[in-house]
Amino acid sequence: MEDCIFCKIIKGDIPSKTVFEDDIVKVIMDINPNADGHMLIIPKKHTEDFTTLDDDTLLHINKIAKKMKELVYEKLDNIEGVVLVNNFGKFQIVKHYHLHILPNGLNTNSKEVDEIYNKLMN
Ligand code: AMP
Ligand code: ZN
Repeated sequence: MEDCIFCKIIKGDIPSKTVFEDDIVKVIMDINPNADGHMLIIPKKHTEDFTTLDDDTLLHINKIAKKMKELVYEKLDNIEGVVLVNNFGKFQIVKHYHLHILPNGLNTNSKEVDEIYNKLMN
């Protein structure tokens, strides 16, 4: 969709730190993280929010969330849990569905995205 920032990221028109990608989703590092390892699972097909997301894609996103949980536990230190967040309505800024992955919940204002990205990818 034109003028959608996440569609532009999916197309590669806006750069992103991609953690995982397949035919259905792209997982990127959040640019303004609320947790060390804050990632977004974004379906490639544009849809506004969880109410318009089809069930097959939702199921796939859940599978990828499990994969990302495994990755976080394997690659980052002292992980005690992961919080999944799906904002809607006035709480959703970007109107292209995305699932937040927050290792250890809301824990940082850190901007060390590069360092954490390298840990996740190595
Ligand atoms: P929300 O729509 O409220 O669930 O949150 C949107 C999220 O997208 C925020 O956490 C932003 O930091 C994140 N975000 C916005 N633009 C980008 C971008 N270009 N790359 C990565 N994350 C982004
Ligand atoms: Zn979009």
